[in-house]
Amino acid sequence: MAGIYVHIPFCQSKCIYCDFYSVAARKHRAGYVDAVLREFALRRAELGGQTVNTIYIGGGTPSVLPVEELAGLLRALIADSRPEEVTVEVNPDDVTPAHAAALRRAGADRVSMGVQSFDDAMLRLLRRRHSAEEAKRAYHCLRDAGFARLSLDLIFALPGQTLSGLRADLEQLLTLRPEHVSCYGLMWEEGTLLHRMLQEGTLHEADDELYIAMYSLVCDALAAAGYEHYEVSNFALPGHRALHNSNYWNGTPYLGLGAGAHSYDGITRRRNPADLERYMAAISAGATAFEAESESDDERYDGYVMTRLRTADGIDLEHLAARFGTARRVEFERKAAAFIAAGTITCHGVRRRITEQGWLTSDAIITDLMA
Ligand code: SF4
Repeated sequence: MAGIYVHIPFCQSKCIYCDFYSVAARKHRAGYVDAVLREFALRRAELGGQTVNTIYIGGGTPSVLPVEELAGLLRALIADSRPEEVTVEVNPDDVTPAHAAALRRAGADRVSMGVQSFDDAMLRLLRRRHSAEEAKRAYHCLRDAGFARLSLDLIFALPGQTLSGLRADLEQLLTLRPEHVSCYGLMWEEGTLLHRMLQEGTLHEADDELYIAMYSLVCDALAAAGYEHYEVSNFALPGHRALHNSNYWNGTPYLGLGAGAHSYDGITRRRNPADLERYMAAISAGATAFEAESESDDERYDGYVMTRLRTADGIDLEHLAARFGTARRVEFERKAAAFIAAGTITCHGVRRRITEQGWLTSDAIITDLMA
């Protein structure tokens, strides 16, 4: 099995916290989908004949493309594969009944929408282009178009956010009852306007105590509403885990198309330039644009430990030994013993997983367990 990811690197404007590769420029938008499909034709063989079972169109903002182009892209990719899941990311302000219906007709069966907050003042601060009401309207629009699988993104630990503010966000989210929720603590990434405002002292980070209380509130509220917490930042109603993302976490190969997209075939990572001009020039000359980097055994092992321990399924010691050898398993068990004693890793037969509370410090735990 394999996945296809397409990066659409266009946004109408930049949200203050975002460090994804995206540009506001209209230049190249017209020929972009054709370039992606040319790249697909050039690189299809990298998947080695494996069946493509997931397609994910992300960004940037895929929904800023004319919907007929997006639909054409979906049809071309779906015709060449047998997908069990086809996801498109949208921004609430782009969703109309006609847009939603066109995506559905073109074969998308899942939509991921960035809501981030239901507090209009917060949305303005973040420079989101939609209001809470518009996000709700877009959600119902997608439902009316027949989407039975919707995922909403929410951010917590926003500047100045209180516990009761987050509680209100969660209540509104749960009223909608999407099948899937991605809920991230705000990242203050270097190079973003948000980070600059932090350095200038205009905005302040939530302190550790508040951050922990907020993460616990998110986990408790979603668990009480019947959501399974299946990855550090991801929650799903039964049967609605994101297949495409789960494939990233279990090491399934994927082909990433478009400017800034990454690919992985189990051995080599390929990175397309996060530079629209370079990407378009290479593809229009009939060439690929990526830089390739083969992983060492240690890097492959570290990637395995890191991604699996961020999931509720954790690591199966027998699978680890079969893939990396008995010595790695022994070393993993030796290092994990301290965390098991501290209660941040639990044992379920041959499975080892980080607890929900342990996920708060998962970076430190995982770093200790790496090669
Ligand atoms: S719309 Fe999404 S990708 Fe674009 S700037 Fe905002 S967060 Fe980043």
